[in-house]
Amino acid sequence: MANPVLPSSGVLSPLGLDAVRISPGFWGDRVALNREVTIAHCREWEEREGWIGNFRGEGPRRGREFSDSEIYKLLEAMAWADHPDLPELAETVARVQEGDGYINTRWSGSRYTDLEWGHELYCYGHLIQAGVARLRMHGEDRLTRVATRAADHVCRRFMEGTETCGHPVIEMALVELYRVTGVERYLEMARRFVERRGLPALADIPFGRGYFQDDVPVRQAQVFRGHVVRALYLASGVVDVAVETGDEELLKAVEAQWERTVARRTHLTGGMGSRHQDESFGEDYELPPDRAYNETCASIASIMLAHRLLLATGDVRYADLTERTLYNMLATGVALDGRSFFYANPLQVRVPAVPHDGVNHAAEGGLRSPWFDVSCCPNNVARTLASLPAYLATSGADGVRIHQYTPGEISHGDLRLRVETGYPWDGTVTVRVLEGGAGRISLRVPAWASSATLAYQEAAASPDTRETRTVAPGYADVEREWRAGDALVLELPMEPRWTYPDRRIDALRGCVTVERGPLVYCAESVGDEPPLAEVAVRPGAPLSEHARGEVVELETEAVLGASPAGAWPYRDRPHGWNGGPAAALRLIPYHRWGNRGPATMRVWLPVAD
Ligand SMILES: [Zn+2]
Repeated sequence: MANPVLPSSGVLSPLGLDAVRISPGFWGDRVALNREVTIAHCREWEEREGWIGNFRGEGPRRGREFSDSEIYKLLEAMAWADHPDLPELAETVARVQEGDGYINTRWSGSRYTDLEWGHELYCYGHLIQAGVARLRMHGEDRLTRVATRAADHVCRRFMEGTETCGHPVIEMALVELYRVTGVERYLEMARRFVERRGLPALADIPFGRGYFQDDVPVRQAQVFRGHVVRALYLASGVVDVAVETGDEELLKAVEAQWERTVARRTHLTGGMGSRHQDESFGEDYELPPDRAYNETCASIASIMLAHRLLLATGDVRYADLTERTLYNMLATGVALDGRSFFYANPLQVRVPAVPHDGVNHAAEGGLRSPWFDVSCCPNNVARTLASLPAYLATSGADGVRIHQYTPGEISHGDLRLRVETGYPWDGTVTVRVLEGGAGRISLRVPAWASSATLAYQEAAASPDTRETRTVAPGYADVEREWRAGDALVLELPMEPRWTYPDRRIDALRGCVTVERGPLVYCAESVGDEPPLAEVAVRPGAPLSEHARGEVVELETEAVLGASPAGAWPYRDRPHGWNGGPAAALRLIPYHRWGNRGPATMRVWLPVAD
């Protein structure tokens, strides 16, 4: 079973890369581009920056203290993509492993002297995830032996005591290694790492222990806090431990933390993280569009967590957030050419970025960059897209559930299904039975789809005789004896809709935006036309659709303000938008912004008075 996550129990079981084949379409195109372009791009930059050379002992060590982890993430991407370069790169890595299993190009000689910032266990986590991917796709080889030797070393060194790593990921990696090998000490080691956190296990730091979730024990925390990627990787590992040990209390704790975080600390795009200083969440309702951080890796971590919670509980809300995050964060994080990436994903950019094609030393999200000093995001995108088919559908006692819609084929038991759709541009999803059998097929109706319909079309019958019914958000089920040629046709309402923020989100008060299907839209301005600082809209005004190739763009009427230049920006009466000319405002899907060169952009638009 070729899955990044394969729990031994839970309401749903994932269908892996061996059961879900993705074909050309929104995601199929991106998965193919990732395999053909992005993986080689990452390899090239890791060579150029000397991070792979570190494993060959070439000259002084280069890169940050955690750069080994980028090679491991790339190895995981290669494993899922069955990439021919994997054996040679794995061989390069293997040379550095020491006799007792220790492996790190930075800290060899001063092992475990800085658990807060050293990232040694973090690097193992990514190595082990790569090893698990290789075991599931290929079977045992050099890479998997390196990974299991590292895991054994971790168990010997850390099973007793109170230590853990400043950056989680080892927890979920060890549980997954337990799942694939059956070796129980890996699960026990993961469980101990989870229980140690918050006792506290790490030294205090200027950001506070909340930065690495060491301020309170996991079971007592009320919300995700601190560094977003750390928090969500940890929570993913906690769900894994809870599921494998049958710890309902622990699972419930993470569900409650997720619920509050989604209600109060999540941007419309599914992005998480409002503070640049420590890459952290910020407080409840602290969701500024221009200062949003929303690291691409954080969105990937959010998808990893939501997927685990979906498998454990079967609750549709986790699949809904995954959809939002896939289309508006993961798809945004990488350019249409597969060679440049966003690190931060703000919802408003006030000043066009200056183009450059070298290493970006900052994380600001104005233009996608080919590489970063800290290049976690490109490699994370690569491994996620390489394993994406594993996130689309599940099986369970009640049959097959399809959670995300993109063209492809799904096999489960006797059933073989083909999904045909132009989603997310088009709202029609046809699930055609290629090979029949008995069972239930469930299709997710997204939370935003308030008037969806589902039709059953029997093989050989005329489309006029379809049985059509209205289906509410959640899962729409049809159970029957399926025959080849039968089809289910889900119609999702794709009318663009105005979206309003909760009034407690101070930074968004007085603003609206537009969504269509799963996509968040934004206004993008190249050459300051129109000037986005002076644009306001009238919610409820018509939103016309304009096809540009397959992409659906929208247009609405806006009001252009004319503010005096250089004036003191405060006065004793409200500043209105009155007097400005009307102008047509084009809105594009947020994930496509920044593909036309330097630009300004905003998702949330002020309401004209
Ligand atoms: Zn990142």
